[in-house]
Amino acid sequence: MRPARALIDLQALRHNYQLARELSGAKALAVIKADAYGHGAVRCAQALQAEADGFAVACIEEALALREAGIRAPILLLEGFFEASELALIVQHDLWCVVHSLWQLDAIEKASLSKQITVWLKLDSGMHRVGLHPKDYPSAYQRLQATGKVARIVLMSHFARADELDSNASNDQVAVFQAARQGLSAEISLRNSPAVLGWPQIPSDWVRPGIMLYGSTPFEVPQAEAQRLQPVMTLESKVISVRELPAGEPVGYGARFISQRPTRVGVVAMGYADGYPRLAPTGTPVMVAGKRSQLIGRVSMDMLCIDLTDVPEAGLGSPVELWGKNVLASDVAIQAGTIPYQIFCNLRRVPLVYSGD
Ligand SMILES: *Cc1c(COP(=O)(O)O)cnc(C)c1O
Repeated sequence: MRPARALIDLQALRHNYQLARELSGAKALAVIKADAYGHGAVRCAQALQAEADGFAVACIEEALALREAGIRAPILLLEGFFEASELALIVQHDLWCVVHSLWQLDAIEKASLSKQITVWLKLDSGMHRVGLHPKDYPSAYQRLQATGKVARIVLMSHFARADELDSNASNDQVAVFQAARQGLSAEISLRNSPAVLGWPQIPSDWVRPGIMLYGSTPFEVPQAEAQRLQPVMTLESKVISVRELPAGEPVGYGARFISQRPTRVGVVAMGYADGYPRLAPTGTPVMVAGKRSQLIGRVSMDMLCIDLTDVPEAGLGSPVELWGKNVLASDVAIQAGTIPYQIFCNLRRVPLVYSGD
């Protein structure tokens, strides 16, 4: 059996969820869209459901999969419905629904619903992706109330730059939000992971932690609260071949690595078809036989090479951690010019093995 697999520590997931609550003092929707950022949405929801205030996903397909698996907690659709016909399912399965555009508001006004729904009304406070324009926000709230179809409204917005701790952009967005919601009495939800960790003064009755649940920092720089996160996923495999090369020999496709000294090369059963980033360069950290080492040469589809020269105790069959509790996924991401979010979401082919239920 191919030794590549992703271990998922559900105990760590619960720890991170509790940390989000503790740091924010708020109710927390666990964001488990995109199959819980590659960690398996159903298993993650099951692990959290005893304590979670609710979950958030991107679309109704993701929500229905959770309902089918028996998850009864509130589930918020972060983009609401994509077409009005989904409203019947939203009612039937008791889902919470973001309204981010006027066309969605029109659709709710036109729909006949057999029960009242919960709407999270989204303001565009500066990210300019989705959300209502501030000038439309109070009237949208009044229109929703007037339909009689809405039992509860939560006011929300989303930050574009909360991961930049030296930027004032998030405070500017809060100011836009506070101005737009003047006179509207409802709970509010602003903070995502970077805002939970790094912006304690920003108010939020509900927080929406995603990446931090999985134990990865959203920041590119060290940050005190992020240090308290526990990595949930360990991507591991084994050394399947070892060779000794003299100095001056190439390794892998494109000869992107040339040995500068006599070099012991380990081949690991892990490649970009598993989601390991192909753009990770020579020098990207790995852990082999409990010691830190590094990637050499280009990542191929099913294999990659690592330097065993300074790890003589490592050999055929030695365990390799590509990321996890020792090698941080965020560090691998930085090396590969991406973010831990994408590293996790790209994971495929490797079996997910759970512990800590
Ligand atoms: C994905 C998402 C989140 C979670 O963001 P993280 O940075 O992973 O915490 C929160 N809110 C909205 C609207 C999202 O789309």
